[in-house]
Amino acid sequence: MKIGVFGGTFDPVHNGHLAIAEEVKTQLAVTEVWFVPAGQPWLKTGRTISTREQRVAMVEMAIAGKPYFKLSKLEVAKPGPSYTIDTIAELKQQLKSAELFFIMGWDSLNNLPLWKESSRLIKICRLVAIPRPGNPPPNLTVLEKALPGLSENVVMLDKPNLDISATAIRDRVTKGLPIDGMVPEAVANYIRRNRLYIND
Ligand code: ATP
Repeated sequence: MKIGVFGGTFDPVHNGHLAIAEEVKTQLAVTEVWFVPAGQPWLKTGRTISTREQRVAMVEMAIAGKPYFKLSKLEVAKPGPSYTIDTIAELKQQLKSAELFFIMGWDSLNNLPLWKESSRLIKICRLVAIPRPGNPPPNLTVLEKALPGLSENVVMLDKPNLDISATAIRDRVTKGLPIDGMVPEAVANYIRRNRLYIND
């Protein structure tokens, strides 16, 4: 069984994430895509992020009605920073015979050499890289030098190619601008009800 694993801060989860997960399901024929919201994202220190409960609630709403999308609370259940290597190692234990595909945007792949134990990570799972407007395409020759074995372990998709980010969504909410079409309606309502991002 093939499983896509999609880690992120998901503050908030947006239609870009959902389009990516659908594309991975179609192109790689994975049985399920697991969304794994980060507990304390180590790359995002410096700004206040929404609580674990709020980010989990938004993912739950976004994937409702799609049985092939799952929520994993593995990272939010733990205190302290979340590292992908620990998550993937644990999921491999849980899902012994599954082949895991860790999904990431081009921005994340370009940073991969800085991640904790990234050389071990590319040995225990495969990666799926998604184009992201505004980010240079990963230079696999350069990345391969830093992480030998990477290029044969990464699947490069050419779509979706959506210019949508959680940062842009938060900025729009702060400015009082609409976010229709950027997040599922239930998530937009949740953001409004809970007054998220108003004073960012
Ligand atoms: P922020 O703007 O707060 O940095 P984000 O939109 O990048 O948030 P995250 O939850 O941090 O969302 O992203 C999780 C993963 O999804 C990362 O690997 C990121 O590269 C990828 N991702 C998010 N949006 C896109 C997009 N529009 N295209 C491609 N990859 C994306």
